[in-house]
Amino acid sequence: MQYILGPKCHDGCVLCAPENPAEDEERLIVYRGRHVFVMLNRYPYASGHLMVIPYRHVSDITELSAEESADLMAVTQLACRVLRKVSRPQGLNVGLNLGEAAGAGIGMHMHLHVVPRWSGDSNFMAVLDDVRVIPEALAETCRRLAPVFAELATCSA
Ligand SMILES: [Zn+2]
Repeated sequence: MQYILGPKCHDGCVLCAPENPAEDEERLIVYRGRHVFVMLNRYPYASGHLMVIPYRHVSDITELSAEESADLMAVTQLACRVLRKVSRPQGLNVGLNLGEAAGAGIGMHMHLHVVPRWSGDSNFMAVLDDVRVIPEALAETCRRLAPVFAELATCSA
């Protein structure tokens, strides 16, 4: 619903990080980097579906500075390491949807998806269709992933 406010009103953007870190868990933010942060997707394709998002409200990768681009890649690598450690997926999808035809909203805050995958997991969607389960499952996943991000970020620094 908040997308209706349009690209100029960043206050209504669900992909802009809250200024107050106390709201991080409620917003499902599991890690804050220098230029980008990591948030759980509220409508996951699979359990542990993450989004790596620049703090700056930009809609395209070409708008990122060199520093932001480098941090986007470094934190994406961190997200892959965290998911491999916690969820032990058999594969990962990492990708961007840029532009309306590719599935992004107009002026949408760009975000990079990191989705853990298992062989034959398409049936998993049926489980996730039960929306009543999702809010608790998301909060639980958030609490499980955040400390691992903190731990592995320190290791690689
Ligand atoms: Zn935004």
